[in-house]
Amino acid sequence: MPNAADAVWRHAGARPDAVALRAHGHTWTFAALREHATAQAGALHAEGVRPGDRVLLVAPTVPEFVVVSTAVHAVGAVLITLNTMATPAEVGYVLDDSGARLVIAWHACADAAGKAAAERGLPLLPLRPGAPVSEGEPIAAPVERRADDTALLLYTSGTTGRPKGVELTVANLAFTAEAFRRQLSLTPDDRFATGLPLFHIFGQAVCLNGTLTAGCSLSLLSPFEPNAMLRMVRDDRVTVMAGVPTMWNAMLHADGDFDAEDFAALRLAGSGGASLPAEVIREFQERFGCTILEGYGLTESTGAGSFNSPDRGPRTGSVGPALPGTAVEIRDPAGEVLPPGQVGEVYLAGPHLMKGYWNRPEATAADLPGGWLKTGDLGRLDEDGFLYIVDRLKDLVIRGGYNVYPREVEEVLYGHPDIVEAAVIGVPDPHYGEEVAAVVTLRPGATLTTEELRAWTKERLSAYKVPHLVRFVDALPKGSTGKILKRALDWDAIPG
Ligand code: ATP
Repeated sequence: MPNAADAVWRHAGARPDAVALRAHGHTWTFAALREHATAQAGALHAEGVRPGDRVLLVAPTVPEFVVVSTAVHAVGAVLITLNTMATPAEVGYVLDDSGARLVIAWHACADAAGKAAAERGLPLLPLRPGAPVSEGEPIAAPVERRADDTALLLYTSGTTGRPKGVELTVANLAFTAEAFRRQLSLTPDDRFATGLPLFHIFGQAVCLNGTLTAGCSLSLLSPFEPNAMLRMVRDDRVTVMAGVPTMWNAMLHADGDFDAEDFAALRLAGSGGASLPAEVIREFQERFGCTILEGYGLTESTGAGSFNSPDRGPRTGSVGPALPGTAVEIRDPAGEVLPPGQVGEVYLAGPHLMKGYWNRPEATAADLPGGWLKTGDLGRLDEDGFLYIVDRLKDLVIRGGYNVYPREVEEVLYGHPDIVEAAVIGVPDPHYGEEVAAVVTLRPGATLTTEELRAWTKERLSAYKVPHLVRFVDALPKGSTGKILKRALDWDAIPG
């Protein structure tokens, strides 16, 4: 079954001079990408890497990441990618758990990986701009892979217990890449851009593999910075881009000098990873003339799940219907399927679901009951099958017996002109069990008070949902993709 490496070989054969990658003012044609990947794959082979072996890559969003990932797929090995900020202990855990035989790390962030590899006597190959990681006879073509061969192992950070390796197959990756290409109607003429980390499911399985499959160009930015992103969109005449909500929000607040003309080529933006406030969609459309379509997925579902495609008419607040060929159900805690309109846990089924957690049959059985993925998210379906994510089950706040969905409160806070970012959490309370708390960042110069924030919310929501506790901070903690990390918010540690 074809994979991302086959896509590179196919486009390099048919359109060798077409641009595959753009970054930092340089371009890589498909022919150049294939040539580098061929050399890199030869180097991996010379290092003894064979089909099924695990290879860890630690690298940021740079073209060389794409060269190595293509090469690993080409030799039929299992790619593992990890956050570039991982500590030696975190890298070491993944090396032990996965039984990786080789580590490749971007030269500028190789310290942790180098230390962990050395402690285990594993080879570390530093990745430098433009150069293969070692010498070897270039390979002739990607090796044949079976649909259910494992191709990618991604570790979820997990809120409880140690991280688990999510095992994704050749077929999983092919499904998501093709679904994304189709949903966004990507053609070889498109110019795609992202500042997402490629080591994460969204950047890699959705954006990178989707654009390689489509044969369009991919502009890469690392690290993400809103003005740099907007410059890239303007200079590369980008037509489609993808990101997480904090990125759209940051672009809306960027202080660079841009006008609507700069974004004339931009036709669509795809958002996922976290809930997207309706206000951000509206402002983005107004400012950049570009529609943001929201989708939903998890690492365990190869980044796919549901998507608001243009042909079915996006619905604000919804993450769209299940992707064609997949299914979504809402179930109660007993596992009974709930009718449209009722809130319960979201379950997914289809060819995007992981093979399982690496070497963890019990965790796999618990999260894939009867072949459905138990997502840990709360949601509801409307009569037409459009999915609305209400919140993460674990983020639900129960105040005095009433359910408060933080996302609903955040949506109201984002509507306030002075508020830039907001996170609503539950704080233990002796009387109510939990109290609703809001942590927000304000526009420069804004003077919003706790009382004014409460009054704004009270006009729009029932009293029990109004944040009783409020803190104003300079910045909210974010994960690798830019998602706001609620579990890193320690209420007692935030200055009042
Ligand atoms: P980790 O487990 O690695 O800490 P994570 O829980 O964010 O990170 P991912 O697989 O990266 O795991 O993200 C999947 C989760 O992201 C989903 O379960 C859901 O909670 C959230 N999510 C994804 N897309 C959306 C969306 N459009 N709206 C709301 N939430 C979303």
